[in-house]
Amino acid sequence: MHGFSRAAKAGAATAALPAAFAFVVTAGAVAAGAMTAGSGTAAAAVQAARPPAWCKAGGTLSARAMPQKIRIADCDLRGRAVRGPNGLTAVVPADGTSLVAHSLRTGGGSGLRILVDDRAGEITITTSGGRVPEGRPRTSGGPQDPCEDGTHRPEPSKWPKGHTVEWRYHAGTTGLPRSSVAKGVANMALANTDCTGGGRFTPPPDIGERYSGESAGGPNVTTDATCGERDRVNTFGGKAMTGAEGDVLAATCIWFIGARTIETDMALQEHGKRWWTDGTCMPGSYSVEAVVTHEAGHVFGLAHVEGADHAKLTMAPVVAACDNGPATLGKGDYDGLIDLYGTG
Ligand SMILES: [Zn+2]
Repeated sequence: MHGFSRAAKAGAATAALPAAFAFVVTAGAVAAGAMTAGSGTAAAAVQAARPPAWCKAGGTLSARAMPQKIRIADCDLRGRAVRGPNGLTAVVPADGTSLVAHSLRTGGGSGLRILVDDRAGEITITTSGGRVPEGRPRTSGGPQDPCEDGTHRPEPSKWPKGHTVEWRYHAGTTGLPRSSVAKGVANMALANTDCTGGGRFTPPPDIGERYSGESAGGPNVTTDATCGERDRVNTFGGKAMTGAEGDVLAATCIWFIGARTIETDMALQEHGKRWWTDGTCMPGSYSVEAVVTHEAGHVFGLAHVEGADHAKLTMAPVVAACDNGPATLGKGDYDGLIDLYGTG
């Protein structure tokens, strides 16, 4: 499986993502700033009573239409759904937690970070990922050797060192096998690789995971791949996300307080996507183990590494059909884990 995986991955390199987190600041920022500058005056009082134009009363709000930093006094987003790039949507937590939402798509990845600072009365929203045009030309001589490529990026939060992430499994409607999901989670926690003779990077990161039973309710991801309200249980598994954009393979949500992760949920798309678990890969199917290994990277605190140069790393938002390459970690994936959970 491993010998096959690297060759398959090379063909997937053109699907790499270009952009780092891009900040979107619009005219809404002017309204928010004007209130700060003029506070104490009658004019400011009138302005404060009137929410900015993008702050509509119902439905989902667009991150693109609002400033990057939002004063809760101007528009209280808590409990509201905010839509980021490529339809990636999340409900702004109302319980003091912050949130990162990721989606892995057949054409790349998208991210949406919502930092809630109740004390400062501010919510900061950043987005990453855009649509990659079909047939985008290579800008380099091809991806680096993943066993040499040390590139990695952290999420804003991680688990405490030495923590065991207890997770529940949800079979979904098509009955994704737990063994494949469990393999993917273990690949990341154990730093499995084909870069070393022993099949693992050493020393291992000081982070654990344990399957702790089935979940009837499923991950806290809605049918349109929105990160919903959390339930204090880490749930991984299948979900028919019938309202998601057609290229979504998986969505992972990470809730955190300060820099500490408190819950993660992961959903693999069952609607319109076929999954490969073992035996011969049916064309057009995606490897459960590979996709879960990548998503488990988010669970443990690794963000995407962007760009065609890094397309062979597990944390590149790149996976092709019948591609099991992400199931084995590259140097950057391991170095990222050691930055977060190293014992040295
Ligand atoms: Zn991802």
